[in-house]
Amino acid sequence: MQNINTNKNTSNQFSSAGTDLDYDRQHVWHPYTSTLNPLPCYPVSHAEGVHLYLEDGRQLIDGMSSWWATIHGYNHPVLNQAAKDQLDKMSHVMFGGITHQPAVELCRKLVELSPAPLQQVFLADSGSVSVEVALKMALQYWHAKGERRSKFLTLRHGYHGDTFAAMSVTDPDNSMHSLYKGFLPEHIFAESPQTGFHDAWDENDIADLAAKLEAHHTDIAAIILEPVVQGAGGMRIYHPTYLRRVRELCDDLGVLLIVDEIATGFGRTGKLFACEHAGISPDIMCVGKALTGGYMTLAATMTTKQVADTVCSGEAGCFMHGPTFMGNPLACAVANASLSLLETGDWQHQVSRIEHQLSQLLPMVGQSEQVKAVRWLGAIGVVELYEPVDMVSIQKSFVDNGVWIRPFGRLIYIMPPFIIGNQQLEKLVFAILQSLH
Ligand SMILES: *Cc1c(COP(=O)(O)O)cnc(C)c1O
Repeated sequence: MQNINTNKNTSNQFSSAGTDLDYDRQHVWHPYTSTLNPLPCYPVSHAEGVHLYLEDGRQLIDGMSSWWATIHGYNHPVLNQAAKDQLDKMSHVMFGGITHQPAVELCRKLVELSPAPLQQVFLADSGSVSVEVALKMALQYWHAKGERRSKFLTLRHGYHGDTFAAMSVTDPDNSMHSLYKGFLPEHIFAESPQTGFHDAWDENDIADLAAKLEAHHTDIAAIILEPVVQGAGGMRIYHPTYLRRVRELCDDLGVLLIVDEIATGFGRTGKLFACEHAGISPDIMCVGKALTGGYMTLAATMTTKQVADTVCSGEAGCFMHGPTFMGNPLACAVANASLSLLETGDWQHQVSRIEHQLSQLLPMVGQSEQVKAVRWLGAIGVVELYEPVDMVSIQKSFVDNGVWIRPFGRLIYIMPPFIIGNQQLEKLVFAILQSLH
């Protein structure tokens, strides 16, 4: 047999020294990266608990939970077992006209855990898709009621994903709306909340959103926002009363409320869902990221029976969406295992311990003259600088200090796995301090 693999690296071993890393640099696109000036990438060989292991043997404490997702830590025996068990039954089957136990169990768990009136679950493939689905639900809802509403009201500094409709409600400057002018739908942006979570509530904070809603409410299908924590659009942590006022305004003026819990859901802010800080429930809610404990891509859009039934009473007679990999059994089985781990309740004291420690350590970082502000909530810690970081050098400084933290712009932030130990968390914060000198 002819060896067709001559000149190719066929071993499973990653070649850090030469070919694999070079190939990566030349051919592989990473998130938000340039092919003209690719920044260094660190090859990871495996991960365990709160640690990432680099190909060169170095061990890093993970401060990112792989972007909010890995709440129970990596390579978790319970999640591994759930995936292995499901793999031997079926890894996938279509969801049209077919159902299966992992999906039904997941939807039941989501209905039980989420704010009361949310009863109908649409399983989606990723966070951005669940946002697309939420926006479509709101549009179909008003269409079915015979009203033509085509606008969404949202907040500056928001982030809802990278697909077009999700991007159209993401901060216009951060997501470069100018590039897509004429293609991207134009929605209405209110000033983002200014009152911090721990500050005294200022009633003026809601004025801009209230005025915009008042002026345009007959065109507005829904308000969409991230509850209490605005994530990738600026890592801002705002007062729960803001959210309560939004709910009241939506009720008064008859506008739907979509809450994007993709980053905040499943315990990250100290409540299972961030809307619980305000004691409100939305009409539509998106979850994703930590849903499978960081194992696989899976998200869900939940809504009330009233919204769901109204959507389906319209001209189309159904909700018009159905991805190929909808309800993927493997992802559902791991999500069920992750939610079972949450149901034991350990996350509550883990997250409050992290929050307590952040409240002790971050003010110290705040004393650096490069730091504009520090803030924290639950298992989220944020250091906002005056100037953007130099990515290459700060990333190297973190890795040299044995931690994995990935800043963006003027923000250095951590959201570690809930299982992180006190000394490990201390090491993350000290690495931030050291990177400032
Ligand atoms: C990450 C995120 C999304 C997008 O999710 P993807 O899985 O990356 O598509 C949407 N909304 C919020 C709040 C997020 O943090």
